[in-house]
Amino acid sequence: MSDRPPSPPVIPATPTDPPARALWRVALGRLALVALLGAGAGWLFGVPAMGCSLALALYAGAQIRNLIRLRIWLRRPKHYELPESRGLWGEVFDGLLELQRKNRKKKKRLAAIVAEFQASTAALPDGAVVLGERGEISWFNNAARRLLGLRMPQDVGIRVPNLIRHPEFTAYFERGEFEREVEVPSPVNAAKTLSLRIIPYGQNQKLLIVRDISERQMLDAARRDFVANASHELRTPLTVLRGYLDMMEMDAQEQGPLAPWRVPIAEMRNQALRMEALVNDMLKLARLESGRAQMREELLDVPAMVQRAVEDGRRLSDGQHRFEADIDTGLLLYGGETELHSILTNLITNAVRYTPAGGAIRVSWTEVPGQGGRLCVADTGIGIAQQDIPRLTERFYRVDVGRSRASGGTGLGLSIVKHALEAFDGRLDIESEVGVGSTFSCIFPPQRITRRSSKPAAATSQ
Ligand code: ADP
Repeated sequence: MSDRPPSPPVIPATPTDPPARALWRVALGRLALVALLGAGAGWLFGVPAMGCSLALALYAGAQIRNLIRLRIWLRRPKHYELPESRGLWGEVFDGLLELQRKNRKKKKRLAAIVAEFQASTAALPDGAVVLGERGEISWFNNAARRLLGLRMPQDVGIRVPNLIRHPEFTAYFERGEFEREVEVPSPVNAAKTLSLRIIPYGQNQKLLIVRDISERQMLDAARRDFVANASHELRTPLTVLRGYLDMMEMDAQEQGPLAPWRVPIAEMRNQALRMEALVNDMLKLARLESGRAQMREELLDVPAMVQRAVEDGRRLSDGQHRFEADIDTGLLLYGGETELHSILTNLITNAVRYTPAGGAIRVSWTEVPGQGGRLCVADTGIGIAQQDIPRLTERFYRVDVGRSRASGGTGLGLSIVKHALEAFDGRLDIESEVGVGSTFSCIFPPQRITRRSSKPAAATSQ
């Protein structure tokens, strides 16, 4: 389908077309001839003036008859044929018939293009709905009919938010920012999940693309369940192993019966601890990924939590780093304590791990007007190269695998931070420069923050 309005058919002037003046000459000549003939015939009967008038009246009558025929044909070109005519009228009629023939040909060609377009979009596995300026449906393909339960022609002209009544889609449609897609349950079958994406085009027109992503979601859920179950199953044997290794480590002291095994036992215990950390992180990630519905909504005393996390960081650092804290003590946050704890621990632990001794770590919790709350963990550590920054929150992505493992990293920390932040509807900003340091900023939306003075009753209102 083309955006261009159809241009009126034009019969090009050919070099053989006579100029207007010549046409005038012919028409006036004919008129004079009719008048003369009429006058001549009248003269034979002794009434030349009457003969002339009669001939002119007959001539005018013939013109009017042709005009009426033309008028009828213009109204009902399919049911009425233009008569054969000579002279100027004949030329006009021929021209009009030629125009009509060309128009029919053009229409046929356009109809073939539209039919081809409709056949190809009908064959698409994804639903396509063409929307007008106000979001009213003007056309849809078979897949859209199946996925959204649209009916032809009843639903044509109806605004799409009136048919897809999910709050997330309504908000997406009203916001008018269509860079991403929304996932909503199918209005036809709640067990299916659809991904909806609006693509603006032309003059205020929109195309709604609908995809069935139920299978992908099922696979994702199966993968998450597998990881969660496997991690859970690994937990018990690991606890037993670690218990025995703890005991053996005690027996492996200087004078103990297992003294010759001290080094291998210590190594085995370290590896068991690493596996435990990995299993715990995998479980945490699986829990976070399984959806935000599970996050508890409570009023969090962030200043106290940040203070405790900084103390834990100090203990981990063992005096090797200088800690600074800038905490807005009146600023609180709605959300889950476990999630915020994961964010704080992972960021501060990373700052300690990736900052050489003597460096500084600065933690801040402040309000940014218009943006919400910001939790910042900045260090003067090794820094991260720009090309690595976008990939840091991927599972098991490490800039330096050896360094991460040596310092007890699992490669899942920032992935946990990202998912935990998503549960708060927040986002993670990372700024870093190699050899200078890194700043990890967690931005929490304004509707999640509040001031300490507000009544506790508001705490449960989220
Ligand atoms: P890990 O357990 O390996 O620390 P994370 O997901 O927490 O896994 O971090 C991923 C990678 O990001 C780390 O391996 C490290 O290379 C880099 N990184 C994270 N935090 C910092 C930091 N504060 N300074 C420098 N590099 C960092």
